[in-house]
Amino acid sequence: MENAVEVRNLKKYYGDVKAVNGVTFEVEKGTIFGMLGPNGAGKTTTIETIVGLLEGTEGEVYVLGMKTEEELSGVKRRIGVQLQDPSLFPRLTVGETLDLFASFYPDPLDVEEAAEQVGLKESLGGRVNSLSGGQRHRLAVSLALVSNGEVVFLDEPTTGLDPKARRDLWDTIRRVRQKGATVFMTTHYMDEAEKICDDLVIIDHGKIIARGSPKELIEDNFPHQAVEFTDPGLNPEDRDNLTDIDASGGINFEDEEGKVILYSEDVATTVTALIDYMRNSGKGLEDLQVRSATLDDVFLKLTGRGIENE
Ligand code: ATP
Repeated sequence: MENAVEVRNLKKYYGDVKAVNGVTFEVEKGTIFGMLGPNGAGKTTTIETIVGLLEGTEGEVYVLGMKTEEELSGVKRRIGVQLQDPSLFPRLTVGETLDLFASFYPDPLDVEEAAEQVGLKESLGGRVNSLSGGQRHRLAVSLALVSNGEVVFLDEPTTGLDPKARRDLWDTIRRVRQKGATVFMTTHYMDEAEKICDDLVIIDHGKIIARGSPKELIEDNFPHQAVEFTDPGLNPEDRDNLTDIDASGGINFEDEEGKVILYSEDVATTVTALIDYMRNSGKGLEDLQVRSATLDDVFLKLTGRGIENE
């Protein structure tokens, strides 16, 4: 079956800066595909190259079987795109802006529906220059939705939204998939990727470092539970000892917020040994928690650092 998107060995260099450094992946039709990575990882560059706003230094990109650089107008007619900071006409109203964008497409969504999907129906008559940052952002998303495109590209669609607006947008994104379209989105929110993406690539420094469904990525990297506590001021010897107490041979990391995390396949043994060790060494054990591994843990394991703390 033809893929919604195919990217083959894409590179984009700006002088010495390797914004994208040889990425290859494909996106299956009818899925929500996520490109997850920290700021500066190369997500925007990748998306902008796929939709034809940028030219790659090397490699090939295809959308719905069409090579973007050879069939750009064909590609544009069949996709919707939300950019992080689109140029809009400040004096047009929200409704006029949506009408304008709808006119670019052969079978657009009803403008009111596109506005409603992002909670902007009440603002249809308001001018673009009077919108708040969050409303402007939601307008950018609805400009992608109004295309009614077969592939909808969303570049960090929920950045800057409050928690409710964020959850509403996840529902909207799921509805796009329900209609049979494909969503290609970027995000640096692990929980978002975990909750709504069917398939993911994790990108870091212009390279893909992992690929799979959120569940696969977690299970492949962590058959363990995470035992987490606040660092009471452990010294290097404590750390070595704690590494050794993990009977299941799990991996230890300390994140950047002063937490120690032990990954364990045998939580009862690890926690008992941990409590004994901390008691014997006269150290406190605060905020002790046992939880399942998350994509945050995967990113930490693969890169040695946390994504949100970049
Ligand atoms: P963000 O979430 O901050 O948008 P990103 O993952 O989308 O990050 P990109 O915007 O693709 O990352 O940037 C990747 C790298 O390429 C960064 O180091 C960035 O500074 C660099 N870069 C992007 N555009 C240019 C440009 N026009 N000229 C020079 N360097 C650039």
